[in-house]
Amino acid sequence: MKATEAFLSWLTYDIESVVSRVKKEDVQRVLRKERLTPEDFLCLLSPAAEAFLEDMAILSQKITAKHFGRAILLFAPLYVSDYCQNRCVYCGFRAQNTFARTKLSLEEIRKNGEVLSSKGFRHVLLLTGDAPSITPVEFFEDMLRVLHPMFDSLALEVYPLKTDEYVRLKQVGLDGLTIYQETYERKIYDEVHPTGPKKDYLWRLETPERGAMAGLRWITIGALYGLADPLHDAFWTAMHLMTLKKYYPEVEWGVSLPRMNPAEGDFVPKYTLSDRRFVQYLLAFRIFFPTVGITLSTRERPYMRDIVIPLGVTKVSAESHTEVGGYTEKPCHIPQFEVADTRSVEEMKRVIAHKGFDPVFKDWVGAI
Ligand code: SF4
Repeated sequence: MKATEAFLSWLTYDIESVVSRVKKEDVQRVLRKERLTPEDFLCLLSPAAEAFLEDMAILSQKITAKHFGRAILLFAPLYVSDYCQNRCVYCGFRAQNTFARTKLSLEEIRKNGEVLSSKGFRHVLLLTGDAPSITPVEFFEDMLRVLHPMFDSLALEVYPLKTDEYVRLKQVGLDGLTIYQETYERKIYDEVHPTGPKKDYLWRLETPERGAMAGLRWITIGALYGLADPLHDAFWTAMHLMTLKKYYPEVEWGVSLPRMNPAEGDFVPKYTLSDRRFVQYLLAFRIFFPTVGITLSTRERPYMRDIVIPLGVTKVSAESHTEVGGYTEKPCHIPQFEVADTRSVEEMKRVIAHKGFDPVFKDWVGAI
């Protein structure tokens, strides 16, 4: 695992001492540079850069327009199972939460797919909890076979798979992968994943690299902001992305910055990423990674989504349901987390167009 090994050395980097030395002149100098170093990225994440949000926003918009034009891709998540053997302290699907678990049949998956397709979606992200005995790779194969004729891009956000399993799934229509490390802080990672296979930090960390080795077209990574110091997680996410991009330049890499939302249970996040810092971090990612896609989820409230959509975002989920089979008439199940933006896809199209961008359902042409 070349990229993962290369990334691991960044975990001992002294982030705090670099950030504490950043002055306003350093931020101004970085904003004039063509190519940024990891230290420059930290400069943009630093408190000193907060005074330059407007300059960062102008630069970010310019970079995004150059590399992505004015298109913003709309996609939908589809939860197909909420069975899970892990006990992630921040998640509504964790094993000790007692509620009637469910897994969609292939017919129910088809019906949900038809609803999403009728709304115009061409890109769908399929999600499950971590329960390989209930949702094995064979189930994913069947699910992809059902949905492949309806969509242009199908991606998974499920438990980490082996390289050959991603290869198998690619053969039946898998196009992309989303995998969050949750937090790169090893000690906190261990605490918030008390038991279950997800406790294996390294196996999860290697997942995007296994997806790249399997030849997946696009892969999105990120951290869940709220678990650990956001500055650290933002920096390590960027270093992870940087090493993956270096070793696998053929992959369309993406990043997302989900912030923690309330879920079933009593977990209170130790850290917060304020709205202002959230915008600053998003701009820093765009300036440091001009060609990387940035995904914005419905965890964010409508007013915040409206602010950041024109600033560098390229992919937006819309009309999302985070409960299993949420797009059909089935009785409602519990959501994995609260959706903060419940606007319909038609409303989102209007919002995006009103900002001067083109809402699109398909951003590539190709045969799987
Ligand atoms: S975050 Fe994923 S693995 Fe953890 S409890 Fe929730 S569904 Fe399971």
